[in-house]
Amino acid sequence: MNQDIYEKYKDFDEGEVATYIPELGRANPDHFGICLASTDGRVFSVGDCRHEFTIQSICKPFAFQMALEEFGRDRVLQHVGVEPSGDAFNSIELEPRSMRPYNAMINAGAIAISSLVKKDSPESGVDAFVGSMQKAAGRPLRIDECVYASEAATGNRNRAIAYLMLNCGIIDSGVEHTLHQYFSQCSLLVNTCDLAMMAATLANLGINPVTGETVFDFQFIKDTLTVMFTCGLYDHAGEWAFRVGLPAKSGVGGGIIAVVNRQLGIGVYSPRLDAKGNSVRGILACKELANHLGLHAFEFTNVGSNFMQWLNS
Ligand code: GLN
Repeated sequence: MNQDIYEKYKDFDEGEVATYIPELGRANPDHFGICLASTDGRVFSVGDCRHEFTIQSICKPFAFQMALEEFGRDRVLQHVGVEPSGDAFNSIELEPRSMRPYNAMINAGAIAISSLVKKDSPESGVDAFVGSMQKAAGRPLRIDECVYASEAATGNRNRAIAYLMLNCGIIDSGVEHTLHQYFSQCSLLVNTCDLAMMAATLANLGINPVTGETVFDFQFIKDTLTVMFTCGLYDHAGEWAFRVGLPAKSGVGGGIIAVVNRQLGIGVYSPRLDAKGNSVRGILACKELANHLGLHAFEFTNVGSNFMQWLNS
């Protein structure tokens, strides 16, 4: 199935590689990978699935999960909402009454979360994040220092968002420390199979299906998946929910994850993006997978029976 989808879209070249973070412009636009990881530990991959790229915004649901585990729902919700913004990922806006960012899947919300999860020293906060992510991937991971430096040097829009939130009392005064945490999280190097395994770990109640290690507290996974479902693709989130119907998250590096609860994690990589910053072939591949395997959350065939059939065929 994923082989057919790969072949179908392999030569599709619509979209542009992100260049607003200069280092991202070095990506090979032709790279394309699709990986499925089932919650019983099977992995199916096709294309450039071992090629590494930066996770970018796909770090956001995981950082949100970590904040919920460390601080609980009430405290986290003082700093970020759970409402789709309907606006671009980098928009400079806060909820008018609460002054919170709309949700943790857009830059403002993710920066507010970074402010919470950062630790006393810049290194220890990043180490804690990388530590959890490598447990979710099931292999050692590292930060791409060139992408980090590129974003830290040019990320003045995110700096503006952070200072606006400092002014509104949403984040503390350690603004550069918070941005270090945020830019580092976005610069984590992953491959397509890592993304699928991270998504499968969310699908599998927080347990990595291959290593058997508990990575995330299952009590908060439903919160994370809910916000991914409603806000994961920014101002494309409604269309995505309609056409694909899965909790998901995209990143400007070209990755997308999607979660089929209790069944499957999907990772897709293709760095050519549409105008909203989502991977063009990534969206097409997920749409096709969801349609063929009956993965939509409200599919009448119910809980992905087509997928289980395919898996066992
Ligand atoms: N690091 C990127 C930024 O803050 C992440 C954005 C994204 O992947 N949508 O602009």
